[in-house]
Amino acid sequence: MNQRELFFKHIGQTSPAPLGLEIVRAEGVYLYDVAGKKYLDAIGGISVCNTGHRHPDVISAIKDQADRYLHVLVYGELIQSPQVEYAHTLASYLPEKLQSVYFTNSGTEATEGAMKLAKRVTGRTEIVAFDYSYHGSTQGSLSLIGDEYWRNAFRPLLPGVSHLKYNHLADLDRITEKTACVVAETVQAENGVIKPSKEWILALRKKCDETGALLILDEIQVGFGRTGTLWGFEQYGIVPDILLLGKALGGGLPLGAFIASKKLMDSLMDQPVLGHITTFGGHPLSCAAGLAAMKVLIKEKLIHFVAEKENLFRKRLIHPSIKSVRSAGLLIAVEFENFEINKRVIDGCIRDGLLTDWFLFASACLRIAPPLTITTEEIEEICRIILLGAEGYR
Ligand code: PMP
Repeated sequence: MNQRELFFKHIGQTSPAPLGLEIVRAEGVYLYDVAGKKYLDAIGGISVCNTGHRHPDVISAIKDQADRYLHVLVYGELIQSPQVEYAHTLASYLPEKLQSVYFTNSGTEATEGAMKLAKRVTGRTEIVAFDYSYHGSTQGSLSLIGDEYWRNAFRPLLPGVSHLKYNHLADLDRITEKTACVVAETVQAENGVIKPSKEWILALRKKCDETGALLILDEIQVGFGRTGTLWGFEQYGIVPDILLLGKALGGGLPLGAFIASKKLMDSLMDQPVLGHITTFGGHPLSCAAGLAAMKVLIKEKLIHFVAEKENLFRKRLIHPSIKSVRSAGLLIAVEFENFEINKRVIDGCIRDGLLTDWFLFASACLRIAPPLTITTEEIEEICRIILLGAEGYR
């Protein structure tokens, strides 16, 4: 059997139509398949590879760490310098309220840990989330997912979760003194890139302050410069009580984190002790890779050029069959009339050597979320191929 046949036989599938490309190498903004075909990567591993694939600094940090130690003991017992250095660096780029970092393996575990922390701190059980939000696929995070289609088959889920409309001021009245936390994406990604209005997000922060509910902002997809500032929340003049990070956090290796004040975080030490446990969370290889990637992001001033690159995409992606383009920095949704057209454009892109994707809740939208290292020429090439696909549906 060849790799493709073995893939379909042995790799547990949840997608009935996986892309199924056999990738043998990745470098910068390109992926290469087994036949030597080159793909321009317009989605960066879904907002993971912000500094590109296999940045030399990241590879060298991984190799250095591999020469020292891999797993040594469960999380939080030993002083492991990759974790300490990374937490220290993250803290130096975060507000005073967000100085204590709990590293997990994934985004969804960060969501789970944050919900537990909010329940523990407030002594409350109710949780508020938003329609068309995505915070992960484990059962607690799945309870928050903003679409009944994905929730329903897995009930019973967490009790006491209610879903409000994102960007809807009147709905905020449903946040009460019984609410432990409100979990929101700073920019809704899987809903096809929906930004919060400044008025709404300020009102959300205020409502949480008034009721004592903790505000948890999920920047798993939009952190690390994706929206044009290091953290998305900086653009709105608010600070969450708990910040969720993942994806680009690990520089291409698995890593998540929930970040809060030391005072809040310390409550997980008491009644019960070991209020959150992980064997592999904050793996030294992942922390070394993530820290190296963050240093590249800063050193190469990648965030500085995000708005300019976003504008170039917006300037080029104009076509009668494109209904709208929504963007938050280099997270871009190109909306077509319907799913069928979008799918044919995406399939055409792949044939033409451009890797894009769609969104969980916005099936008529094509996703663009390239490495932030993408150049002007590469942006022109991405747009040329998308417009070629769009031309077929004029
Ligand atoms: N939150 C958001 C906003 C995400 O986009 C994702 C992943 N797509 C997650 C949480 C879950 O992260 P993970 O897949 O690492 O569990």
